[in-house]
Amino acid sequence: MPIRLRLTVWYSVMFVAAALLLSATSWWMLRRTIDSTIRQDLQERIDDVRMQLQKSPPDASVMELRAALEATYSYRDDGKWLQVMRQDGIWIYRSRRMMQENVALAVPSGRPSGAVQIDFRQGGRTVRALFSKVSANGAGYSVETGMSMTKAQLLLHQFGLCLLLMTPAVLLIAAVSGHFLSRKALLPVAAIAYEARRITDRNLDSRLPVLESNDELAHLSITLNHMLARIDSSFRSVREFTANASHELRSPLTRIRTEAEVALFRPRSAVDYERSLAQIHEDAVDMSKLIDDLLTLARAEAGSDVLRMVPVDPEALIQEIANEWSGIVERLSIWLIVAAREGTSIEPLMVLADRTALIRLLRIWLDNACKATPPGGSITLRCESAEQFVVLAVEDTGIGIASNEQERIFKRFYRVDHEEAGQRRGAGLGLSLAAWIAEQHKTRITVKSEPGKGASFQISLRKAGVPANGSWAFKADAIHADVDGKVARRTLQS
Ligand code: ADP
Repeated sequence: MPIRLRLTVWYSVMFVAAALLLSATSWWMLRRTIDSTIRQDLQERIDDVRMQLQKSPPDASVMELRAALEATYSYRDDGKWLQVMRQDGIWIYRSRRMMQENVALAVPSGRPSGAVQIDFRQGGRTVRALFSKVSANGAGYSVETGMSMTKAQLLLHQFGLCLLLMTPAVLLIAAVSGHFLSRKALLPVAAIAYEARRITDRNLDSRLPVLESNDELAHLSITLNHMLARIDSSFRSVREFTANASHELRSPLTRIRTEAEVALFRPRSAVDYERSLAQIHEDAVDMSKLIDDLLTLARAEAGSDVLRMVPVDPEALIQEIANEWSGIVERLSIWLIVAAREGTSIEPLMVLADRTALIRLLRIWLDNACKATPPGGSITLRCESAEQFVVLAVEDTGIGIASNEQERIFKRFYRVDHEEAGQRRGAGLGLSLAAWIAEQHKTRITVKSEPGKGASFQISLRKAGVPANGSWAFKADAIHADVDGKVARRTLQS
């Protein structure tokens, strides 16, 4: 059922229900008012009779009393239903209609003290009568006075009829106004839907109209606009990602192609072919690394690359990494220092991590540190226990990162142009991958750096087991700890 029709039906049902309730309440209130007015009238008549009896002399006979009452009531409508009996059972007065009805009247002593009301039918009409006992001039009397309910019933009947006749009219008004109101209320929704239909992937920068009413629909437009902004930014980043990836892949491909074309241009010596092949191989390795990074990022984006967390010994891990990188740093004439705990009896530190991902993160840091550190500088691989955490860090004494760059370096394809470094350049994907790995380990990378003095990248991983009992000292395969606790270094090259 369309929402407009539903609103109309709801509106009509509510409106009619409210109208019916109002009608029933008004009818009931009118009836109550009539009832209490009649009762008051009857009570006033009984009081009137009492005053008539009171006015008569105390020693007046039955005949005198009857004559006095007849003189007052026989010509008045009020006397149509009236009968008065004295306490000794003698009728003082009985109107003709009461005689026809011949309603018995108990003597005052046999009556309850309060007034009693009854309804009876006479001829075609309903009569309401009130019995009460009164006392006048020392004598007790039972008085019954009645009143025709015809007028009151007619009034009630006509009022009820009017209300019933009004119901279809109310229903019609409710349906028509419900239809118009729902139409008016849904017009902005139609406008929003119309605008939303016009938005495609080509004009994601368009926004839906926001009503000035500041109501729910305005909030809906604002929410949808925020959603559009997010989709727009995701689309942009996907487009940028594709453009950047193509751009990054083009350079090594062009180099490979040029190298091959130059080599094939004319016959060459075996040494020349070897050199060309070596160059092509290096570019192919760069490309594989780039494609690998791109794939990992794409999978991370799609959420399909889930890391498997297992207990890992971070000290053993950095030792392994140090061994892996010792040859590389040696060629670059850089010192490699491993800073970890000393002693054989200490409990191993354990963290919950994805081993492969953690190795990848350390490799990214080390690769960057090697690129940024000039020969003679040093790189420290650090593993420390800090309360419930294990801190893993790579520190270098390289060119450092300006503070305004420290946030941006985690963006994809972002590279800082270091003229002085003169090193080979990466694609700018390493740190965004590292940030994703850290995020998967529920932590963040912290960067500390001062341009010209080096940089330090670190993460804190929650310990998996019982924390180590803690006397700390540094040990290193490639370093010695001297007596002051200062770290003495020795180059791997020497
Ligand atoms: P890439 O793969 O090109 O190295 P990254 O995302 O790993 O890209 O790093 C982004 C930028 O951050 C690099 O261009 C580099 O200039 C800067 N950077 C990263 N690590 C260091 C560091 N240890 N010292 C100085 N600059 C660094």
